[in-house]
Amino acid sequence: MKVLVINAGSSSIKYQLYGMPGAEVLAKGLVERIGEPTSRLVHSRGDDSAILEEAVANHEAAMELILRVLVQPGGTIEDLSEIEAVGHRVVHGGEEFTGSVIIDDRVLASIERFAELAPLHNPHNLVGIRAAMRKLAGTPQVACFDTAFHTSIPKVAHMYALPYELYERHRVRRYGFHGTSHRYVARRAAAMLGRDKYDLNAITCHLGNGCSIAAVRKGRSVDTSMGFTPLEGLVMGTRAGDFDPAILFYLADKGYDLARLNGLCNKKSGLLGISGVSNDMRTLEKHAEDGDERAKLAIEMFCYRVRKYIGAYSAVLDSVDAVVFTGGIGENSALVRELTCRDLAHLGIVLDPKANGQAGGRESAVSASESRVRVLVIPTNEEQAIARDAFELVGGKSEHGAKGRSVEYDRQER
Ligand code: AMP
Repeated sequence: MKVLVINAGSSSIKYQLYGMPGAEVLAKGLVERIGEPTSRLVHSRGDDSAILEEAVANHEAAMELILRVLVQPGGTIEDLSEIEAVGHRVVHGGEEFTGSVIIDDRVLASIERFAELAPLHNPHNLVGIRAAMRKLAGTPQVACFDTAFHTSIPKVAHMYALPYELYERHRVRRYGFHGTSHRYVARRAAAMLGRDKYDLNAITCHLGNGCSIAAVRKGRSVDTSMGFTPLEGLVMGTRAGDFDPAILFYLADKGYDLARLNGLCNKKSGLLGISGVSNDMRTLEKHAEDGDERAKLAIEMFCYRVRKYIGAYSAVLDSVDAVVFTGGIGENSALVRELTCRDLAHLGIVLDPKANGQAGGRESAVSASESRVRVLVIPTNEEQAIARDAFELVGGKSEHGAKGRSVEYDRQER
């Protein structure tokens, strides 16, 4: 069975075609700069890749182009009917979606309703879904939500200590994001350690341009650092993470308007804001090596914040079996893992410097033999997780779930 995975953003659509159940990537690519005269498609199949430069007016046209490339003579498939399911990444599923679902009118309406909570993402995800529904009419479409894995977070952890009516009237609470990634690496960690997926306590650190950390108890998320929006928590590429919100009132008094404050917190802070050089960890590591003090400070602050959360989540969990590093930084930066885990022996976390130095781009254990907590590097693969959910739902391979609802639905406890 072939499953097409779609990740639609504001001006791009990423796609991967999977052969299931083996999760073999048959083809993948990206249409970028949609709506601009310079838009283009980058398509790859095995080691071959091709770039097609042509104006792509909108998401509908982008979907059409993707499907055309997949079935072109000598292409990956002969006929679109070979695609038996489409899996879509959707950022916000509110409190409603605790797992992936087959999309129907009710689901579409909910995704639209939650656009209020994720105005930068859900509308684009919806456009991608609608375009795929029109181009592949009759093919089941599945939504996989970034928030779903975190719907198991108990109220004590997902509520803010703000007036309760803000939750009742405006649904202000912690939702968390990157859930598909946290779920994927938690499941892989269980497999690597030979444990059942519902028998693992882990702290999963997704460190990329966006960063979040999750406390996973017995396979379920019980806390996470991103909150009502992805701004909260760790230091990120351009987002500040945790800071005193009164700073915003103070700056507003000084004449900063809402748009400027928003841009400041989301686009000009984090690694970029501290270093003044870049939001990119690789670049900062080079600058730090050359003696740039602010680049060094940015890296140290980044790691310090992750350490603080590892400490906090060690307190949240009864015991910790594994700390997992994933995302572009978590997977590739030995320095970040080293600075983060340094002097955490009192929490049972001890790195093996050699294993840590050699890890990168593949699953590996980087903890020392005496480390009570296993420290793992696991490349994330959200697309594969989406493909598996779509396969499970549409292929009717659900172990426990009612048809149309993923396994996670039945396992969630609120
Ligand atoms: P992501 O958003 O998951 O693609 O991650 C992007 C981040 O990963 C950027 O800050 C990159 O600089 C960082 N990154 C990728 N490769 C490396 C590497 N080899 N060393 C340090 N950081 C890296």
